[in-house]
Amino acid sequence: MKTHKASKSAGKVTKSKHVNKKRLLKTFGLLLGLLLVVALGLFLIQQYNSTYPTEGIAGKAYSDLSSEQKQMYWGCYKEKGCGILLKEAQANKNYASYRTCSKDCHAQALSYSPQQDYCQDSDGLDYFTVGNVTSNFYLKGKEDYCLEINGKNYLFEGKCVNNKAQFVQKNCAEMGEYGCEGGKCVEKGKLSNAVDTLVIVNSDDFPDLTVDKVDAVFQLAEGYWLFPKTQTKFNILGVKYYSFSKKDWKKWLTEYFLQGDKIYPEYIVIFEKEPIYGGYQSQYELEYMLNFYDLSEEIIYCNEFKPSLEEYGGAVIPATLVDYGHKFAACGYNEDYTQIISDKGLCKGEETSCIWKNGYQMCSNMQDSFYAQNTNYFTANTIVHELLHSYANDSIELEHFSTPCAYNKLGWNPEFSFDYYLQELDAIEPFDDIIQEYANICPYVWQQFIGSQQICDKEE
Ligand SMILES: [Zn+2]
Repeated sequence: MKTHKASKSAGKVTKSKHVNKKRLLKTFGLLLGLLLVVALGLFLIQQYNSTYPTEGIAGKAYSDLSSEQKQMYWGCYKEKGCGILLKEAQANKNYASYRTCSKDCHAQALSYSPQQDYCQDSDGLDYFTVGNVTSNFYLKGKEDYCLEINGKNYLFEGKCVNNKAQFVQKNCAEMGEYGCEGGKCVEKGKLSNAVDTLVIVNSDDFPDLTVDKVDAVFQLAEGYWLFPKTQTKFNILGVKYYSFSKKDWKKWLTEYFLQGDKIYPEYIVIFEKEPIYGGYQSQYELEYMLNFYDLSEEIIYCNEFKPSLEEYGGAVIPATLVDYGHKFAACGYNEDYTQIISDKGLCKGEETSCIWKNGYQMCSNMQDSFYAQNTNYFTANTIVHELLHSYANDSIELEHFSTPCAYNKLGWNPEFSFDYYLQELDAIEPFDDIIQEYANICPYVWQQFIGSQQICDKEE
């Protein structure tokens, strides 16, 4: 880079030897006057040049404006291009247009008078309650909400600050094992992996069915079927004894719930005599039943194992009627089992004889069946079988193993018989075949039961 040296001779002044004193004074006065004019001009320019905020215009200073009015001013300033006018003014020393622009914006800002701010929050800063904030911005109210940001779920908790709504971002996990659900922090991972079951015994049918006996049959149901297939247990909430001749079980149950005992079960097992089938699926329509009564509060029901079939809509609890100690493969159709001769259909052919087993007449072709070993086995199977019906997609077929389910869902070849497949497919011990192993429910329904599991907020 080249450097430039200033010439030293450039500043030299040649002095005049003839000096006129009068002329000198005149020139000095003129210069002084000029200097004053320039100084005054510079001062005025300085005044004009100072940008608006410090300057008082229209009787009210910028600093007196409210923050909304200031925002209003700068919005107008930008919109009208006052900034550009200022630059032009600085270049050509003419501030008239800039001054008009700025003045107009100030007037506009002054004329802005916002309505009185209001804000109301139903829960304050409560992370465990879903609150609702109403303000002039959220006229219809806005609830606390959960939002996922970068894979993390945060709570946005509404609050009022200076009569304005604000949403505070809260990580529920900071407080321990909590997560955000439905606009509040809830305890995480509260899966019990157990079907909370309420047992009702028809005391007319089974006056001697003790809690111990009920426990025993549920242990079989859990041990043979529910746990090995789903890693889920039964949790018996209680055993209630009601006389069904006085009132049906749904009415008994409704009265029980209305007593204020609000631990709603996930499954209801009713022991009642059912000699033909050994049990059938039912449902308790919680909302429908309780709404017959004068209910002031909303029913909040959550089943850890959400049923697929909710025919009545609303809160429905899967239920079943089970024949305790069901006489598996009993001869004949008579309810008192007095018919000795095996009946067509039940014992599969007239040639099938009846034998005494477990204290009753049993079709001889079934005497070696797993179910024939202990009358509790079929009862236990029925408890699980009927539970699973609520997790089928088909409310008509209910997806028994023997229905088209096996062909449709397992891809069986329709050219081969059902019995062929039963013999081909090995069942695990101690079951005779895979129908027993799956409690006669299509395997996909078992998968749906597992998939139905959800975290319920038990606080509600
Ligand atoms: Zn069934």
